[in-house]
This record gives sequence, structure tokens and C-alpha cells, in this order.
Amino acid sequence: MFVFLVILNFQCAENSGDGSTHEVVHDSTDVVMEVTEVVHVNTEIPQGLRRLLAAYPEFLDSADGNNLYWKDGTVMVYDDGYDKTHEEKLNNPDLEDMMSQEYIPGVDWDSPPPEDFEPGRIRFEPFFKKMYGASSDQVNENLVSLKWIPGICGTTVKVNTVNGVAEKLNKISEELSQLPAEFHKYLARTGGTFNWRNIAGTNRLSTHAFGTAIDINTEYSDYWKWNNSTQYRNKIPIEIVVIFEKYGFIWGGKWFHYDTMHFEYRPELLNQAEEE
Ligand SMILES: [Zn+2]
Repeated sequence: MFVFLVILNFQCAENSGDGSTHEVVHDSTDVVMEVTEVVHVNTEIPQGLRRLLAAYPEFLDSADGNNLYWKDGTVMVYDDGYDKTHEEKLNNPDLEDMMSQEYIPGVDWDSPPPEDFEPGRIRFEPFFKKMYGASSDQVNENLVSLKWIPGICGTTVKVNTVNGVAEKLNKISEELSQLPAEFHKYLARTGGTFNWRNIAGTNRLSTHAFGTAIDINTEYSDYWKWNNSTQYRNKIPIEIVVIFEKYGFIWGGKWFHYDTMHFEYRPELLNQAEEE
């Protein structure tokens, strides 16, 4: 509802600036213009687009029924109209595919994940390249060094400053350091952050390539590829997960193709409560 009102205001602002003949001369051009505007205003913005707008206000300007408008003038189509299998969504997604599965934050999630249920694993790469950098060099320009959980881990890691990712990881680091001693072993090492690479066995970039993901201690982690099985396994306590989620990071342990060491910044999948 909030976004809808913003669009209305935007339209009003446009009207007030488009000349003075509007109220005086009702010629045919005027009528056509009004019809176009009414159609635009009444177009319902899909929930996925509204969540993207709410999550990335620094970059995104507005949306309509099937387009996302960036502040730099870029337009991205939301739904390409193709029916896809899950594998096709992973390999050739649009924004709509990316937003098609609902991430459930917190303790009460559907565990183990049903087949192919893995919100966040479908990523429309051009969307992230635009914000964080489209090459290793470009991403590098946006990275800062961060001391990760001093006193428990203490490794210096490189993370992206765009969208406040580094700041949020710093807050997560502070909160994790407050956890009781029994949690320390999961955090005592890090599997790494920035690494410009594809996901093993695919042509898809890992979110580690953007410096927006972090792996915690690999020693206590389960990864479907290492296990060579999608039979769900996990040792990471949910207390750690909810701290990450609080700052917009989703957990790979909630995926059918599980990766329980992995956290990545995806606020568009965690802002349900603000939106509805
Ligand atoms: Zn990872």
C-alpha cells in the first residue's frame, strides 16, 4: 500500500509539471494522456518487486506491473513469461524466479527443506552486478577489511561496503561475540568472504564474488556437494542463524541443496513483515 501511494504522488508531481493547458483545453491529446496514466496507476506491482524496492532504496526508484526502474535509468523486466523447471530457474532466471520462493526467517521454518525449496539460491546475476560490481576489479573497489568476531575468530576478511553490507556484518560480528562459549567452535574460523568465482560445477557466480557472503567454520558445516547427497544434515545452531537474519542475511542451511556454513546479504527475502 505504501508503494502504491508513492506512485500516486509521483504521478501527481508529473502532472503539475506538464504545462498549464491541462485544465483549460480538453483536446484529444489530453484524453489519451489521462487514459495512459490511469492504466499505469492501477497496475498492481507484484509483491516480489515491492520487496526489492523496499530492500534496495539506494539503487531502485520505482516499479510497475512488470518493470523495475533503477535510479540510473536502467529498466529490468520482472517476469520474462517463460515457464521453467527449477534447474532452468537456477541457470536462466528472471527477477520473478528469484523472488518466487518465500524465505522463512527464524526458528519455525520448514525443516528439512522440501525438494528444490531453496529461497535465495535463484539469483538474477545482472541485478547484483549492477550494485556490487560486474568484475573482480570493480567489486574490489567496493571492499573494506573487517576484523571478524575478534576474540573468537579474529580473521580479517574483505566485504562489500555497498548497501551497508560491511556495517551490517560488523554488527553481526559484535552480536556473535556475545554468544555463550558453547557456540564459539562454530565461529572460531571462517571459510571466507570475497572470492571472484563461480559456484562449483556451474557457470553461475557465487555471491562470494560480490563480497556479500561469508562462510563460518567449515569444520562444523554440511554442504550437499561435499556429502554428495541432498539428504539434509546440519550442525549449525539456529541461535547463530537468527543473528544473521536480523541484519538481512539469509542462511544456506534453509535450502534443499544445503550449504550450512553459508550466509549472504539478501534483504529482499527478509522484509516480509515491513511490507505486509
Ligand atoms: Zn558460502
